[in-house]
Amino acid sequence: MTEVINPSTGDVLTTVPPLDLAGTDAAIARAQKAFPAWRDVAPGDRARLLRRFAAVVDEHIEELARLEVRNAGHTIGNARWEAGNVRDVLNYYAGAPERLAGRQIPVAGGLDVTFHEPLGVVGIIVPWNFPMPIAAWGFAPALAAGNTVVLKPAELTPLTAIRLGELALEAGLPEHVFQVLPGKGSVVGQRFVTHPAVRKVCFTGSTQVGKSIMAGCADQVKRVTLELGGKSAGIVFADADLEAAAAAAPGAVFDNAGQDCCARSRLLVEASVYDRFLALLEPAVRAFRVLDPASEMSQMGPLISSGQRETVQSYVDDADVAFRGSTVDGGGWWFPPTVLLASGTGDRHWREEIFGPVVSVLPFRDEAEAVRLANDTEYGLSGSIWTRDVGRALRMSRAVETGALSVNSNSSVRYWTPFGGMKQSGLGRELGPDALLSFTDVKNVFLAMGE
Ligand code: NAD
Repeated sequence: MTEVINPSTGDVLTTVPPLDLAGTDAAIARAQKAFPAWRDVAPGDRARLLRRFAAVVDEHIEELARLEVRNAGHTIGNARWEAGNVRDVLNYYAGAPERLAGRQIPVAGGLDVTFHEPLGVVGIIVPWNFPMPIAAWGFAPALAAGNTVVLKPAELTPLTAIRLGELALEAGLPEHVFQVLPGKGSVVGQRFVTHPAVRKVCFTGSTQVGKSIMAGCADQVKRVTLELGGKSAGIVFADADLEAAAAAAPGAVFDNAGQDCCARSRLLVEASVYDRFLALLEPAVRAFRVLDPASEMSQMGPLISSGQRETVQSYVDDADVAFRGSTVDGGGWWFPPTVLLASGTGDRHWREEIFGPVVSVLPFRDEAEAVRLANDTEYGLSGSIWTRDVGRALRMSRAVETGALSVNSNSSVRYWTPFGGMKQSGLGRELGPDALLSFTDVKNVFLAMGE
């Protein structure tokens, strides 16, 4: 049995039986058997079923959100947004089955057409930091394109995924079309990689595990989408609305206690306004409300585990701490929002993904240096540019090597726009119009007209 812990208190919430290898194989076999019938469901009917699934999720937003508060320590406001995001992603891709059109290409002597064929069984591996949205970003387009899905939640946070699996059945999805398989990464997740009936793996998690998944998938030329780590930069120019940039900076890195692959965990500030920016940032950090995540007022809850807290602490131990926010005493894995001053780009806290409420600040001289510093990382997931100069905003947007940038904003995720990383932050795109086709293969068919 795997114990599921409430990170706000350290108490055991419940236990979940993990699947073993034989159980995983049996589930994959059921998904494989369910595939032809699901593929052949009329597009309008598949769309209707996904809309009904979205409607059932909508009826359970509060229940799902409260479950996530207990299991992941997410603030209730965030958790409601996350459950709502599952509904929205399902509704968005419910529009896909009737629109999954191929092409008709002129070829002499007959008719040439393309089909977007579903792949078969898709395996989705989810991390603990956003259990609901990341699951839906995989399963919604996969199901819409006609695939069946096996989904492995993270060991620490299986509860909302298990509930979503039940809600899918309640909504009328046929049995075994969408199965949630709690268990270990090295057992269930690894089997998605090695089982020949799983035709695609969608992985979100650490860059290290992602690389091993990609290498494993190569053996069967298995399709793979990777959403990996990040070390994104918020770049603040002297001509920016500094008050707005400083007010938004805490949320951009401390949201979800910094356990966000898009966290703007490096702050680059133009040297001429560096002191003024820090003076504006300090009260915003101190005012960030670290409270019981079930409280409507809470802006930040605990870290996910004691291990994660130890890891995060290790980055702060030898660093130059500028100032910190508040924390909660007592049980659970609490950690205060922390601002570190980087001495240069060699600092470990500047280079590595911390995945906690810690931001490192470094000054820069000019635009060219800002680009160089921002791109001096193996990652390339998101980032923000703060400037009032439209030309500079455009130049920077093209120069910074990341998949999801925002200008005068820290918003990276919308269900209808593409999301994913450049460099070692990932491969492929989720959400928006781009994700759907990655759950299909193109088939070209030529029909001869005859004499
Ligand atoms: P992790 O890589 O340890 O685990 C992620 C998932 O993979 C879990 O379900 C785990 O059980 C499974 N897994 C572990 N080893 C496996 C193996 N050998 N084979 C198959 N599956 C395996 O990551 P984590 O600690 O759960 O999540 C944190 C990481 O996820 C961070 O690095 C973060 O940046 C990244 N992340 C990225 C995005 C993104 O969209 N780019 C989003 C969220 C999280």
